[in-house]
Amino acid sequence: MYNPSTMSDCLFCKIVNGEIPAEIVYRDENVVAFKDVNPQAPVHVLVIPVKHIDKLTSSEAADGKMLAEVFSVIQKIAADMKLDEGFRVVSNCGPAGGQTVFHLHFHVMGKRAMTWPPG
Ligand code: AMP
Ligand code: ZN
Repeated sequence: MYNPSTMSDCLFCKIVNGEIPAEIVYRDENVVAFKDVNPQAPVHVLVIPVKHIDKLTSSEAADGKMLAEVFSVIQKIAADMKLDEGFRVVSNCGPAGGQTVFHLHFHVMGKRAMTWPPG
């Protein structure tokens, strides 16, 4: 059932706060990146805004600068992880989109050949 998380019960807010451990690979004031606990590729990093936004369509114009920072971090992760042959960025939005954690996040996956269409 669709049940958008609030900050207090949000898994990724707890990772941001340090309440739940994660293998964090990047952190600044607005953006955190950590390894996915169930990797779907040899490199599978989740890049998230510190701000709790439940999904892509809930972001607002005022979030634009911060979301640009998220994309800069995605570029940095791709460089740091040496994904120069290519990689995939995915944001599942809503239940039919396959979203299971309702805190906006971008999957960055690489180091294997990707297929299309995704499942
Ligand atoms: P999505 O299904 O697009 O909402 O993606 C949620 C992702 O979060 C999945 O790929 C999970 O494997 C990942 N995930 C769930 N719990 C954790 C956790 N504690 N630490 C890291 N990644 C997690
Ligand atoms: Zn959250």
